[in-house]
Amino acid sequence: MAEHMLKFVSIGQAMPDKRAAAERRRDFDEIYRDFARENAARQASRCSQCGVPFCQVHCPLSNNIPDWLKLTAEGRLEEAYELSQATNTFPEVCGRICPQDRLCEGNCVIEKGFEAVTIGSIEKYITETAFAEGWVKPPTPRKERGESVGIVGAGPAGLAAADVLRRLGYRVSVYDRYDRIGGLMIYGIPNFKLEKEVVQRRAALLEQGGITFVLNCEVGRDIGLEALRARHDAVLIATGVYAARDMAAAGRSLANIVPAMTYLTASNRKGLGDAVPEFDDGTLNAEGKRVVVIGGGDTAMDCVRTAVRQGAKSVQCLYRRDRANMPGSLREVKHAEEEGVEFLWLTQPTGFEGKTGRLGRVKAQKMKLGLADSSGRAVPKPVEESDIALKADIAILALGFDPEDLPAMFQAPELLVSPAGTVKIDFRRFETSLPGVFAAGDIVRGASLVVWAIRDGRDAAAAIHDHITARAAAPAAAAE
Ligand SMILES: Cc1cc2nc3c(=O)[nH]c(=O)nc-3n(C[C@H](O)[C@H](O)[C@H](O)COP(=O)(O)OP(=O)(O)OC[C@H]3O[C@@H](n4cnc5c(N)ncnc54)[C@H](O)[C@@H]3O)c2cc1C
Repeated sequence: MAEHMLKFVSIGQAMPDKRAAAERRRDFDEIYRDFARENAARQASRCSQCGVPFCQVHCPLSNNIPDWLKLTAEGRLEEAYELSQATNTFPEVCGRICPQDRLCEGNCVIEKGFEAVTIGSIEKYITETAFAEGWVKPPTPRKERGESVGIVGAGPAGLAAADVLRRLGYRVSVYDRYDRIGGLMIYGIPNFKLEKEVVQRRAALLEQGGITFVLNCEVGRDIGLEALRARHDAVLIATGVYAARDMAAAGRSLANIVPAMTYLTASNRKGLGDAVPEFDDGTLNAEGKRVVVIGGGDTAMDCVRTAVRQGAKSVQCLYRRDRANMPGSLREVKHAEEEGVEFLWLTQPTGFEGKTGRLGRVKAQKMKLGLADSSGRAVPKPVEESDIALKADIAILALGFDPEDLPAMFQAPELLVSPAGTVKIDFRRFETSLPGVFAAGDIVRGASLVVWAIRDGRDAAAAIHDHITARAAAPAAAAE
């Protein structure tokens, strides 16, 4: 091992080349170039192969990171890919958009004193090599089974479950109200973090593996949950969370105050070549405008960086806590700052002003951080007489998401949900209060991460397999 590994003492951390901010601002392409083979191997060789791999411990998928780093350092890339895909259905996605600074890389042992191994970029390199070499195969089962599973939602949770179940031989149908496969990976997350071709390439493989996609089909409107239960041996709800949080403030009804997903979806659709009248008429296009984004999570970061690329005159981001206490990835803040975004920390919007029904100014006040609340986060408190006003042509609200009212949407009052509206499940069996109906991803956890959606989807698929096989075995057992 020593020959190839533990090179962190002699080799410094190097990310793949990042395109210059001035160039990034002009397009929606991903910001990092790919590793060359030799650089990927060199960077992988920095891993210290520590006894307790905290990178793996802090990965929601328990990816066997030290071993696939070692295989990469040794040039054994096909084996590295096999190991990586054994625990992760979409490593090409996680390598690009996991907040590695908070998960694997943030817990890398050499981070203390040296800089972390560039795990995400190496994961992306291994998977891109696997696609280029033809090692990534559709989820074709060895043996078909008679039973079928219906999945509501083609986001990462639903797709991860579909992949696992199809490999086990089930007939799998995925229903989605969108016209494309991928959920937030297509319509939420912008191209500069995750190019759409990456998601579409994976979607094509799932279709080749025999998974059926029923698109433009909203469950609860176009087909009922009961009908799905009658049609399939089990149903998985993986519908994500889409009810945008709003703020009750003076002037909120002015035009040009838009929810983040409305703004991002229009931009993503435009990039995909769709007709988007609200973009073309300027309503959802930041070009030449003074943009104020409100929020401090990943969604806010995606909005500010999208506005920059659309040619905004200025982009400001208001967040009521400070930099250290924001929920979004600090890496994303750094990218945004490089691209020209101005952050106003400890600043809370208090209202909106405008003439002729259109937004002209966002009013705000400065905050200071008080003691932590029961969640452990410092509570922001207003600073007296600290009011400010910012000129704005468009304000984008990125305040988070809640679940839609699923029992009402599905006309299923027996479907139990938490006070927050997330679907209640038995956490060992992933089953909801409706027998044979399972749930996974953001609709169970609340707004979270792609990597957790993949984990939940894989676990729910295993639970569905147990449920169906146990049921199939039951009559025989009873007859014995
Ligand atoms: C702007 C933005 C940026 C983000 N950036 C990151 C990031 O950088 N890294 C990261 O890890 N995570 C990020 N996330 C979070 C991540 O996208 C989600 O946690 C993840 O997509 C959740 O997966 P899911 O499968 O549970 O739901 P979703 O991806 O939301 O998929 C749910 C699917 O269900 C469909 N659906 C809903 N209701 C119905 C119905 N009634 N009938 C049929 N279909 C239905 C929807 O159309 C959708 O396709 C981001 C989120 C947003 C909003």
